[in-house]
Amino acid sequence: MRILKFGGSSVENGANISKVADIIKNASQKSNTAVVVSALGGITDLLLRTATLAAAGDELYKTLLEEIEKRHIEVVKDIMPVTQQSSLLSLVKKMCNDIGDICNGIFLLGELSDRTRDRISSFGEILSSKILAAKLSSMSLENEWKDSRELITTDTNFGKAVVDFAITNKKIGNYFSQTTSRLFIFPGFIASSKEGETTTLGRGGSDYTGAILAAGINAEVFEIWTDVSGMMTADPRLVKNKKLIPRISYQEAMELSHFGAKVIYPPTIQPVMKKNIPVWIKNSFAADDEGTLIHNEVIKSENTVCGISSINNIVLISLEGSGMVGIPGFSKRLFEALASAQINVILITQSSSEHSICVGIEEPFVKKAKTAVDAAFAYEIQTDKLLPLIIEKELSIVALVGDSMKNHSGISGKMFSALGRNGVNIRAIAQGSSERNISVVISTADVKKAINVLHEDFFETTYKQVNLFITGVGNVGKRLLAQIQQQHSYLQKHLSLNVQVVGMANSSKMTFNENGIDLKKWKEKLEAGETLDLVKFTDTIIQKNLRNSVFVDVTANDDVARLYEKLLQKSISVVACNKVAASSEYSYYKRLKELANEFSSLFLFETNVGAGLPVIGTLNDLIRSGDEVNRIEAVLSGTLNFVFNNYDTVKPFATIVKQAQDEGYTEPDPRLDLSGKDVMRKIMILAREAGANLQMEDISNNSFMPASCMQGSVDDFYKAMVKEETHFKKLYQSAQAEGKKLKFVAKYEHGKASVGLQHIDPSHDFYHLYGKDNIVLFYTNRYVDQPLVVKGAGAGAEVTASGVFADIIRAARI
Ligand code: ADP
Ligand code: ASP
Ligand code: MG
Repeated sequence: MRILKFGGSSVENGANISKVADIIKNASQKSNTAVVVSALGGITDLLLRTATLAAAGDELYKTLLEEIEKRHIEVVKDIMPVTQQSSLLSLVKKMCNDIGDICNGIFLLGELSDRTRDRISSFGEILSSKILAAKLSSMSLENEWKDSRELITTDTNFGKAVVDFAITNKKIGNYFSQTTSRLFIFPGFIASSKEGETTTLGRGGSDYTGAILAAGINAEVFEIWTDVSGMMTADPRLVKNKKLIPRISYQEAMELSHFGAKVIYPPTIQPVMKKNIPVWIKNSFAADDEGTLIHNEVIKSENTVCGISSINNIVLISLEGSGMVGIPGFSKRLFEALASAQINVILITQSSSEHSICVGIEEPFVKKAKTAVDAAFAYEIQTDKLLPLIIEKELSIVALVGDSMKNHSGISGKMFSALGRNGVNIRAIAQGSSERNISVVISTADVKKAINVLHEDFFETTYKQVNLFITGVGNVGKRLLAQIQQQHSYLQKHLSLNVQVVGMANSSKMTFNENGIDLKKWKEKLEAGETLDLVKFTDTIIQKNLRNSVFVDVTANDDVARLYEKLLQKSISVVACNKVAASSEYSYYKRLKELANEFSSLFLFETNVGAGLPVIGTLNDLIRSGDEVNRIEAVLSGTLNFVFNNYDTVKPFATIVKQAQDEGYTEPDPRLDLSGKDVMRKIMILAREAGANLQMEDISNNSFMPASCMQGSVDDFYKAMVKEETHFKKLYQSAQAEGKKLKFVAKYEHGKASVGLQHIDPSHDFYHLYGKDNIVLFYTNRYVDQPLVVKGAGAGAEVTASGVFADIIRAARI
């Protein structure tokens, strides 16, 4: 005998029931088959809502009754040949009338007991199983419909009744031994008490019905037919990247279902495990997919963790107080109080100081728990030995499950670091003594993010999704977007990174798309976005709470730079091309660095100095490896280098500056470059990264720009430079006369920095510096006479964009 159980979605409508009928036909041709069926998808909820509304005196219950009847009638009309509809239709109508009668009674009395609730919800399975039986008969598949209530006996814990296996197994044995039928249809979920009252086995309990029957007749196999192709490494509704688990042990499956994997109702495994009956999870909508086999072997797979699951609506209740320390019996009393109030404990942790015990329970039980525990410890609370029960709501449990986790060190470390990196606060931790699971209690708002990062970290074959929020789509931003698009598949293939832009803003608009903005159409998408509001932009990033979020600032804007603080505090890494933050007041720079450290995120700004050149990265490596920077000498302005390399008095100075701007080497406001201020910022950033507390005021600037050029608008600036052409000629000629070149040089030594125009001798490292190149010489304890030199293109949108991109990848790989 094989047992097949079909869930609510498998019998949700006529089309689905027809598919199910075909699956049954197939199976019944191979061997004797017992089918267990759930109510049509959504009907149990609807029945319970109807009863609740009726009890509350709300006449809307009548509309719901109509809906229940309509759904069943539609299904019958859909699947049955017209000539065979009438008896089934009258059966459906009769039952719906019965439901109506009970609900009217509830309405009049204004009262709904647990017992009546079970009675009402039992109609869902009776209706669906009768319909399925009729459908099979119409296909000439002879079958016997049997009311499960006659076989499964339980106590009277209505809503989640406990099965009496001794009686039940006997009844099942007797029944099957006396029948000659080969195909059976049973309503799932329902049972009866010894007194004959209808009970139910708990929500989702049809799986359990199947398992009870399977164990009762020692079935050769138990198949759970549902709407997914097996048990997955995580809930497919939460994790796009989930994987099928082809084989899983009973224990692992039980553990996963206990911690929220809804695909199996938790008590289901126990009876079939005892009898060593293999369980298959199969997909009613893709019957050929192999599915998952649950059996008694522990499979050695390359993954120590076999799956991740979660339970929402958890409340932590904590008993705390100095009166507990060293005195035995507190936990016994606590659990007794909870047990006598029939509260199911899901998770327990006790601090090693014995100062507190923390218990996770389901939300609906919280009031009962509070009353019971506070009453049990009334004396201790009154005498200040204990605090009244502390309650924390809106929590969830996330659990890693796997047989091979046993004796495998480092799993919890990896788990906590993945969560910490993403700013997920862990409220409590528990590890089952079997070492088959580690569970953490976290805020419900963090569940999706947590499960996804854990999934990325523990299932190596999956890729890590990186969610970028980019502000600024000017010269550099545009190229960055093009590079991200172009590198997308490379990153996925070689670094297992799926980099997607999920938010984007320019100075007027912003747009979001959690599934990734189509980078081929980003302009249109942004254009069609909403009006930019930076506060809203930041709040949206935080509220979306996506894993591996990185904020990318490709603007030169002060206000954007002020957002970093809030983001880093939420463990969102910041990649800034914008120099404002790193060169603002020292305290802000320092605070951002500290926040990044504290909240396990990164604050990266490699492109602040030398565009894409590895200047800051090199300096960081020196410092981290214990070196000390004694002196820095550098040419740090691609613009000024370009200008002085190209200016030979033939074309006016202003024209060369304009050319630099047109080629995208300058800051959006070129005066920042020409004044030397941009170089000041850069040397200051290097000095800070080398460990100095340096401010702009501490840097001397021997500017070569006449004051007249630095007033008014950018237009005025160009006009003034034309007027001052003789001044620029003189600068050029005086260097030329000595056989030297003009270079705008930055220096840092002994905590002091300076910038200014210098005549550079042909023997100097700086002399042969062409185009828009930058050069940085680091003199350190290790590089004493011969400096460590970083040299190359130090400006330009393409190289800057690639530097930003490299920072993004660094942030993505922490
Ligand atoms: P049925 O109505 O067939 O009993 P359920 O809704 O009770 O179906 O269970 C199937 C659902 O369980 C899937 O649609 C899926 O969303 C959810 N689920 C949660 N965790 C897992 C998991 N680890 N593997 C597969 N499905 C899961
Ligand atoms: N119909 C019941 C429920 O919705 C039982 C089940 O589907 O397994 O909970
Ligand atoms: Mg189910």
